[in-house]
Parts: sequence; C-alpha cells; structure tokens
Amino acid sequence: MTNYSELADLLFPNIDKTPEYYEELYPPRRLKEGAKVTRFAPSPTGFLHFGNLYTMLVAYRSAKNSDGVFYVRVEDTDNKRRVDGAVEVMLKSLAAYGIEADEGVVGENQEKGDYGPYYQSQRKEIYQAYAKSLVAQGLAYPCFCTAEELDAMREQQENEPQKGYWGKWAKCRSLTVDEIKSNLQCNMQWTLRLKSPGTAEGKCRFEDAIKGKIEMPENIQDIVLLKSDGIPTYHFAHVIDDHLMRTTHVVRGDEWISSTPIHLQLFRLLGFKPPKYVHVATIMKEENGGKRKLSKRKDPEAAVTYYSEQGYPKESVNEYILTLANSNFEDWRRANKEAPIESFPLNFKKMSVSGALFDIVKLTDVSKNVISTMTADEVFDLSYKWAKEYNPLLAELYARDEQYAKDVLNIDRGNKKPRKDIAKWSDIPDYISYMYDETFTPCYELCGNADGELAVKVLSIYKDVVDLNDDKDMWFSRIKDICPQVDCTANVKEYKQNPEAYAGHVGDVSTVIRVALTGRTNTPDLYSITALLGKDRVLERIEKAIAYYKEEK
Ligand code: GLU
Repeated sequence: MTNYSELADLLFPNIDKTPEYYEELYPPRRLKEGAKVTRFAPSPTGFLHFGNLYTMLVAYRSAKNSDGVFYVRVEDTDNKRRVDGAVEVMLKSLAAYGIEADEGVVGENQEKGDYGPYYQSQRKEIYQAYAKSLVAQGLAYPCFCTAEELDAMREQQENEPQKGYWGKWAKCRSLTVDEIKSNLQCNMQWTLRLKSPGTAEGKCRFEDAIKGKIEMPENIQDIVLLKSDGIPTYHFAHVIDDHLMRTTHVVRGDEWISSTPIHLQLFRLLGFKPPKYVHVATIMKEENGGKRKLSKRKDPEAAVTYYSEQGYPKESVNEYILTLANSNFEDWRRANKEAPIESFPLNFKKMSVSGALFDIVKLTDVSKNVISTMTADEVFDLSYKWAKEYNPLLAELYARDEQYAKDVLNIDRGNKKPRKDIAKWSDIPDYISYMYDETFTPCYELCGNADGELAVKVLSIYKDVVDLNDDKDMWFSRIKDICPQVDCTANVKEYKQNPEAYAGHVGDVSTVIRVALTGRTNTPDLYSITALLGKDRVLERIEKAIAYYKEEK
C-alpha cells in the first residue's frame, strides 16, 4: 500500500501551506445574489484580437450588468511567449473601449484586489500546495518519462484508436515510492501528472451558457498538471485560479470546449464547485462564398489597434459588437434610440453558437449612425485626439482655428435628419478638405444638365450678387433669381413637365456653384459652406472656375 502522504512530502518538501489555508485566505466574495464574476486572462503577447475584445466585452458587460466583478489575471507561465510591456498595451487596448478592470492587474506590474497575486508566475506556491494535496490523496503522481520515451510511445500508438498518456500507456502510474525515491536521488526530471479516474465509457455532461447542453467523452488522459520546472499547465492553473479568485462565469473562446472535460474533472477531484462556462464562438468572415475565422495573419481588422488607427470611436465599436453579440440588439436600439448601451440586457443565450460574421460594411453603417448623433464639439474633441496621434496635418488645421473647425463639423448636424457621411475619424480629412485652401483640390466636373456653358453664365452672375450677410432664404432666393437669366427654371416640377423648354433647373444652377466652391457634386448644406468659406475665398474659387470653363470651350 503506497504511502501517498510520504510521496507528497518527498515531491514538495518546501510546501507547507495547505488548500485549507488558501480557502481561508480567499473566501467566497460577498456579492449580491446573481452577481457575476468574470475575467480577462490574457497570455501577455501584446496582441489583442478583435475576437478577444468581443469576448471581453461580453464578459465585462455581464459582470457590470449584475453588479459583479470583472478582473484581469495575466497568464504568464509560458516564458517563451512573454513580451515586455505587453500587459500595458493589452490593458490600454481594452480601456480604449471602456473596459477597465475592477480588480487584478490594472497596469504593468500593478495589481489591486484581495484575490492576488494576479500574475500566474507569482502563484507557483499556491499551485504546488494543491498539487501536493492531490499527490497525498493518490490523485497525482510524478512522471519521469523523457521526451524520447514519449515520442516512442506515440510511435507505438500509431494504430491505436485512443492515443496519449493513459491506462496501460501511463508507465509512471505504477511506480512505487521506492522507485520514485531512487529516481529523485538520481536527479531525474519529473512532471506531475493527474491520475485520471476517467473511463472509456464515461461521459462528461455540462450546460454551456451559450451552446446549451453538451455531452462529451470524459477525460481519461493522465494530463500534466505541473511541468518539470514546477510551473502549472493551463488546465491546472485555470482550475485553481478560477476557483480561488471566485470566478462565477468563465467567458472564453470556444477553442477551449474540447478541454472542458479535463477542467470539470479537475474541479471535481479538487472538491471545487465548477464555474459556469460561457464559450464564445470565434468571429468568422465571409470569403468566396464560404466562411473562415477572422485571421490575425490575413485580416488587418483582426487587430484591435486597427480600429483606433482608423479612428472608429469606441461608441461605434461597442455598438457594433453588441449587434454581433445579440441578434435582438438592433430592435432594442430602434426602440431605445437614446439609451446608453450599458442598459442593454445582454443575454448569453442569444449569442451565436456557430460564430458571428464580421462585416466591415455593417460596422461602417453603425458608426455613421453613432457619429451622426454626436455634437460638433464631441466630433471635434474625439477626432482632434485621434489626429494628434495619427494625422498631424488634420491636427494642425484644427489647431489653427478651433472654432472654424467646429463650425465646419457642425454643418448639417444637430437637426432631425443629420447627415451620415463620417464613419471614422480618418474620413474627416477628405470630408472637410474643401474647407481649407491647402487641402482643397478643385474638380470642375459637372452633372445633370449643368455644362461648362451654363457654368460660365451662372457663375458670372452669382459672383456679383453673392452676399455673405444673406440669411439662408435670401441666399436661396438669389440662386432662384439667377434661373430665368440663364434659361433655367427655379421650379423643378415645371422643368419635369417640359424639359425641352429649359436649359436646366435650380438644382443644376446650385450644382454649378457647389462644384466651383467645393470640387464636388454632393456636399452638405451649401449655404453654410459658403458662409464659412467667406467672401474672399468664394470669389476666388468662382473666378478660377469661370476661367477653367472658358478655357475648356
Ligand atoms: N490565457 C488563455 C488564452 O489567452 C485564457 C483562456 C481563458 O480565458 O481561460 O487563451
């Protein structure tokens, strides 16, 4: 009969704390009934995938909506993948979308909260205390197999239906304490393996909050709990940490579903109540009529930094993510136009089981809507902040005369049907280019009935009558007055009834003026543009246009 507690002392001579000690140190949280505790558990690579942001927004909102806790735990047990400054970058990327941890790692090497340390690399003793206790109960054992031996085992298993370190293949399962002692005396390296109680017929059943009832074969593998350096594998660390940090809902990517039977088995053997699992399906992208994962390698929009570089406001990205997350969000939005998105009742059950489809056109539409409801001051402030980082020319134009910039951005804003031209801050330089001489590129191409001949006539009259003191009605009536003088009608209906009788209508006359002043056939309110450009620039641009059209003849 093996003396397991002797074995435990042999393997972990320096571990004197017990699971009971940690249970007391990290007591259940005192939160109100139904409060969710969720977390972001990044490996510190510095790269935040759009899928991470999506998953974390779901985790964050569900904690916030229930008066729970959202915390950050850094999974830095894999030294090879560690990147300096990565944590800071990832936290900043999340913060840019309003996701800030209540607890845990809140900055590079900055922690807050009673359930730490929140860097896994600093929790070695905790994992080992639980490992020691598993050994003492005969539920874990040291494995001395070398990489070569494991390779040889895999080769022998080539034709076996059930591969891996299990059952009869688990050579080190049956080592006696004396054999273990002598291996240790020879300084042989060892890993700690679970003595899995699973059977080939056994089933693991659980209810995933998104995917519903799941049934899978239970785990039979003697998986590695601690690597030879005493550092835990993801499986072991996940179970210990999420238990001791009192996570109620593990919101994570669905690539972890296949490992869940291991995790549930570990929770049971350790005597822990398992959390609820919320496995979020990977974001997909349509390609050539099929679907594939949104890929870090192929898609620039897979990186969360893409959205800040392009200047999508956080409000738009958050709003878009909710359209991806819950199919009823858009109906809710229509019914609650002004409501902050925080008040949307996010529901795991309404999330896509197979993977929401990323659609940049949809993001663009959502963002145009969001920006159209902002005030000019908001648009100015947010886009100025963006420009300082990503577009120095725009920042310089803004800085020269802030009020002018705000007035420009205010055109057609704040009314019942605001224009929806801007989807992201990087659209602004082009959108307002004609309001600044240095970015205005004339283009004299006309449309409709307007042609060079009409343009010369209209502009020659307009330059003499344009009066910057006019109010909008007066301004328009002057344009209408030009119509009969250039064989056009001020009445579009009249024109439609008898197009042969006219050279064009008031729309064509406006087009001529619009093109001369902006280089475009479609712009926001021309009256406001004229007023902001001011008399000198208006006259200068008109003269240039007249000269162009005359030359063209
Ligand atoms: N460190 C794991 C990852 O980055 C976390 C998975 C989890 O949320 O449990 O994939």
